[in-house]
Amino acid sequence: MKILLAASEAFPFCKTGGLADVVGTLSQKLGAAGHDVVLCLPKYRAVESAASRGGRSYHLDIPLGASSMPVSLRCVQRRQVSVQFVDCPPLFDRDGLYGVDGRDHPDNDVRYAVFCRAALDGVKARGFKPDVVHLHDWQAALIAPYLKTLYARDPFFSSTATVLTIHNIAYQGVFPARSFLQAGFASADIRKAKTGRGYSFLKAGLAAADWLTTVSPTYARELQTPAGGQGMQEVLRRRRGRLAGILNGIDLDYWDPERDGFLAQRYRQGDLGGKQTCKKRFLADCGLKDSASVPLVAMIARLDRQKGWDVALQALAPRLRRCRFVGVGEGEPSLVKIVAGWARRYRGAARFHCGYDEELAHRLYAAADILLMPSRFEPCGLGQMIAMRYGCVPVVTRTGGLCDTVTETSVLGSRQNGFTAKSGDARDFGRALGRALDSYAGPSWAETVRMGMGSDFSWDRSVRNYLDLFARAAAQRRAPLDS
Ligand code: ADP
Repeated sequence: MKILLAASEAFPFCKTGGLADVVGTLSQKLGAAGHDVVLCLPKYRAVESAASRGGRSYHLDIPLGASSMPVSLRCVQRRQVSVQFVDCPPLFDRDGLYGVDGRDHPDNDVRYAVFCRAALDGVKARGFKPDVVHLHDWQAALIAPYLKTLYARDPFFSSTATVLTIHNIAYQGVFPARSFLQAGFASADIRKAKTGRGYSFLKAGLAAADWLTTVSPTYARELQTPAGGQGMQEVLRRRRGRLAGILNGIDLDYWDPERDGFLAQRYRQGDLGGKQTCKKRFLADCGLKDSASVPLVAMIARLDRQKGWDVALQALAPRLRRCRFVGVGEGEPSLVKIVAGWARRYRGAARFHCGYDEELAHRLYAAADILLMPSRFEPCGLGQMIAMRYGCVPVVTRTGGLCDTVTETSVLGSRQNGFTAKSGDARDFGRALGRALDSYAGPSWAETVRMGMGSDFSWDRSVRNYLDLFARAAAQRRAPLDS
């Protein structure tokens, strides 16, 4: 199959969160499975120029309102994937992928509309005729309505199917109607994009894509409820026959305590001596030495209300005599202030590092005994899976993908791999953390760690599910009457 993936971030080129991990790994796995894969990304300032230099380049003029925007397309090969960078310095050569200091770039509508058209015009210029275009989140969602309107009569795309994956429904790309008109849509085309606050790129995609997926089966169900759908529940309920939940995996080569070059000492299931060394070294490095006998609790997440940092701090405060805490994250400045102030107040037992730091994250997953994910909602979550692989036990709220990956049995069951709070309420979450801390000293802890390290979070099953869906979408597109 010829597959075009279009996304606003992908590891290792540019990353703000799990989306990048998913797109980076999935594209390589599809390539490794023998498919012809093009990955289209914006050429942000953060993309090292070495990554996008060389290869072939194409010049495109992307229509925009009454004028057009010149774009160069730079195509480079990375392992099994041809990466197509949309290079347009006025739109992408600036600080911050989506905004700076918690404020969105004011022209994100133009940036991602141009990106979507450049993705399509780009593959056409290269003669790469996709069977399936796999779109990720609102930034790439307009490709689906483009194919149903402006490109509907273009024979080049006549058998191209679209699959739109929702990584997080909270981000909907809502803009005024004029953003759509400037992007080339007719007034009649944008009705389906209307929301209470304006017109949504995501909603336009949800209405137009041939298939929809999201990143866990539980989140696929939650999205159809008023609480989970965040305004999109109606279109998702209407299209539920075309909505699938496919759980993300993690890159087991990259996240591997046995081969991780960032660690003070590598280790594996069955021989956790190296994990103790990682913990001692980490604690010493952050000035918390002599604490190795109590559990080290970690949180590695964006500073966003979704992630429940406030809940974590409330649950932790009365328990800091029994554990140590290290948090790593960046995001909303108001939350940064709160978390940093809290860590200063409890500096005998807690540390907070503000910033995005890949190496620190690896070292902390290896050093920590417990990872907190008190998410208010969590489409899939990668942190809990990475933590388990590193022998760090997750304490999570029972929501979205956390339900599908973390199990706490009330009796000493053999399947327990973590601790779950039934809601994002600080008291519930505190109780779940309390159970984890109680269990730490007991005989069942090693078994919980072992279950986590032995869980299968590989991409293999997910890639098979995506490929089945792509094949079905492409077949339905070729023979629409049979679908
Ligand atoms: P989301 O995509 O909502 O941010 P996920 O749990 O799906 O959440 O993925 C988060 C990913 O980003 C994980 O790989 C996590 O380790 C990483 N991450 C989050 N914040 C940081 C940070 N400040 N430094 C390093 N890695 C981070």
